[in-house]
Amino acid sequence: MFVVWNSKKVIAVLLILIAAELTLCGILLAGRLPAKKTTLIDFTVVLDAGHGGIDGGVVGADGVKESDLNLEYAKTLQRIFERAGFNVVLTRKTSGGLYGLPTKGFKSRDMSERKRIIDEASPNLMISIHMNKFSQSYRSGPQVFFQQGKEQGQLLADSLQKVFNDFTGKDRQALAGDYYVCRETNCPAVIVECGFLSNEQECRALQTEEYREQICNLIFNGTMLYLYAD
Ligand SMILES: [Zn+2]
Repeated sequence: MFVVWNSKKVIAVLLILIAAELTLCGILLAGRLPAKKTTLIDFTVVLDAGHGGIDGGVVGADGVKESDLNLEYAKTLQRIFERAGFNVVLTRKTSGGLYGLPTKGFKSRDMSERKRIIDEASPNLMISIHMNKFSQSYRSGPQVFFQQGKEQGQLLADSLQKVFNDFTGKDRQALAGDYYVCRETNCPAVIVECGFLSNEQECRALQTEEYREQICNLIFNGTMLYLYAD
């Protein structure tokens, strides 16, 4: 007998079939995947993408904003650290700043919100990501900073700078200074200036995926050198 189904019946049958399919997929996947996301290492790294929102940081000759690049670098680094089994916390996850709605006095609110996130994560390491600028456009290459007087921060900075120097062929020292996020963080903490947006060639390179991967892998390698050095 030929049955003429109305469209409601057809939709109902299709929905039942889709539900059955999804349930089957769920059962199959459940057997392969761990019940919940687990990290291999009980070690937390905070990645702090500098600036954000109305604070764009340094601007390149082509108009690229430091805050946008910092976030891309932090997210690439997050992927690299998480793949290696580390627990990662980002201070800033979007292009917006961390200062809330009113923009008056935004910088101090932005910085104290970063401190609050870092304190809550209670990390083993903190890496703040920035891009550099210099009045003379020839200057290029990554530069690492640490908080004056903090020995572990200096050791981490030295390891990172060494790995960068091996890559660039430059003979640069990690530099001491007074930086809020490093001063206020109770773990080894550094600021990595990944390169100079004031250098046209480097500014272009910093915006390519290939160079970003390279710099982020060097940051990961420098961190491993710090963690596993005698
Ligand atoms: Zn910056």
